Amino acid sequence: YRNNIIRKKSNLLLKEKNNELIKAKEKAEKASNARADFLSTVSHELRTPLNAINGITHLLLEEKPKKSQLHYLNSLQYSGNYLTAFINDILEINKIDSNKIELERINFDLKQLLEDIKNSLIEVATKNKNAFVLDIDPKIPNHLIGDPIKLSQIFMNLINNALKFTKNGKVSIVAKLQDLQEQKAIIQFKIIDTGIGIPPEKLDSVFDSFSQGSIEINRKYGGTGLGLTIVKKLLNLLGSDIHLESHLGEGSCFSFELALTVNNNFATTEPKKEI
Ligand code: ADP
Repeated sequence: YRNNIIRKKSNLLLKEKNNELIKAKEKAEKASNARADFLSTVSHELRTPLNAINGITHLLLEEKPKKSQLHYLNSLQYSGNYLTAFINDILEINKIDSNKIELERINFDLKQLLEDIKNSLIEVATKNKNAFVLDIDPKIPNHLIGDPIKLSQIFMNLINNALKFTKNGKVSIVAKLQDLQEQKAIIQFKIIDTGIGIPPEKLDSVFDSFSQGSIEINRKYGGTGLGLTIVKKLLNLLGSDIHLESHLGEGSCFSFELALTVNNNFATTEPKKEI
């Protein structure tokens, strides 16, 4: 009889503990949702007037301003662009963190995607006098299924950084087929630069939000300190992770592997279609 009472009591205690845990989890979820909603509202509210500021600055710059005004307008344009990039990055991180991102499954051509990205960044490469090389394994199937917009975001961030932190050097984008099964292509990507490199003590923290090399680096190269956070989060969403090897003064190599579905049914006459 006593044992029965003890068992009942401990069951009751367990139930209470369980309920407490569930309540604490619900409370944390509510707080996290409220934070995400707040961030999203504030960011959207900031974006509207900022678009006006950017638009008017652009118009004024087109009106052939005097030399003295040009300096202020350029500075206004830089700050406007920075704030826009910052707000967009915050919105993106918020969306990923609150599980509001859905992955697309669309037919795409990886080679074309990388060539388009390269073409869109050629100006940055030329400005910094960098050789800019695409090295794509010809064995990679032409038609893959995945989320090309998320992939572009990942590549744009990494390649833009590589070009930004390298002067008179070389930036290579390497895509290598690791394994090809009937439905799946395992591809390894490397973004290699011969730029300023990252000190060993910073190798882990560069992926944290707002982490930047140093105040001097931030002042010299600009940026929001959120790009690599987004890259890591997007890759995690795609079931992968990012690896970094870097030597100060010599350069960096960011690499990751992706398992992409091979589109065996692709009819060449059909336009890109949702699967
Ligand atoms: P940012 O917008 O400041 O570039 P990121 O999150 O993209 O933010 O990068 C964080 C920091 O990591 C950068 O400020 C820089 O110090 C360092 N970093 C990133 N990519 C490179 C690279 N290719 N070479 C050297 N340093 C880099």
